[in-house]
Amino acid sequence: MKTCKSCGVPYFISRYHNWTADGRLTTRDGKQRLVIIEKTLIERIFDELEKELSINARGILREAKAIDAREYVRSVVGWRINLLRALPFLKKKGYYELAEVCRALGLADAEIVKYQPSQYVWVSFSQCYNLELFSGDVMGAFMALDRKCGDVQVTREGGKYNLILKCQEDKKDIFEKMKLPQEKPRRGYISYKRCGECKAPISVSFFHWDEQKGIVIDTRTGEPVIFVDVAGINMAFERTKREYGQRFGGNIDKAISVVTKKVVDTILPQIQWKHRKPEERVRDLFFLAFRGMGNPIFTVPMESGLKVRVENPFNYSFVAGICASFIARNQRVTFDWKKSGEGALEIEINF
Ligand SMILES: [Zn+2]
Repeated sequence: MKTCKSCGVPYFISRYHNWTADGRLTTRDGKQRLVIIEKTLIERIFDELEKELSINARGILREAKAIDAREYVRSVVGWRINLLRALPFLKKKGYYELAEVCRALGLADAEIVKYQPSQYVWVSFSQCYNLELFSGDVMGAFMALDRKCGDVQVTREGGKYNLILKCQEDKKDIFEKMKLPQEKPRRGYISYKRCGECKAPISVSFFHWDEQKGIVIDTRTGEPVIFVDVAGINMAFERTKREYGQRFGGNIDKAISVVTKKVVDTILPQIQWKHRKPEERVRDLFFLAFRGMGNPIFTVPMESGLKVRVENPFNYSFVAGICASFIARNQRVTFDWKKSGEGALEIEINF
């Protein structure tokens, strides 16, 4: 993995991704949106959702992630994809490169053990961010490069996982069913201090890449993070809402944000909170932008707490829960939120 001499960020990250002035992190062509998020967060949120809402989110997650990964691979490989598809030895090389990409994104220490064009892929790894989501990633890569659907079996052997994907010809149309309307981003004016060499925002250089382990660490908290595309996660949420929403009388969005806050509360590092005036508390949320989660606009005092506005949140329930946790600073709060127009999230937090 080649990294920038000046800031240490891998060139793969800075060359293939773009930090926008409106609080998003996208692939270079702008087609796929990503976020940088604590590795345990997504896993634990879906665990909690399963426990608290007694729903089965797993299968949904895997399929949604596959579509997402397919688009991500297409986006990153770009015009070379037809070349790759046409030439088996290049395609094989493509899979090896994708294993490297997994390491750069902090997803897994993936190694390709065996690959048979259009037949199967065998991946070995010892850690990954989430088995369901990572299975979806491999399925998506197979869809992008081999243009076929596959089914995944994961087995564990000692400290290693073996993931074997076998082609399934008849499994095509489920992937066409899931589509998500994209919101038009609101204009933003964030300017990042960037590395003079590779142009990655300086905040990104606070991450440390452990290439061997395929781990990315936020050095300020010691927590591993991942770069993950969000469309699949959002699709999984949409489907969860469609299938289970009735049970919560339309309030499943709120239920998800409460679960999110609960999980973020537990992984919030020992942050030394600075004393800030209510209007300055928005600074505690600035991390949202370089992590691609949205554009924090303001915090204003209300009678019993604070009102927060974030534009272009990658997911309303998630971002509402994350903000509530950071604003609460471990105090007991209640919170409510609403979408106030396209791409605008407003949260009211009561102390
Ligand atoms: Zn740099």
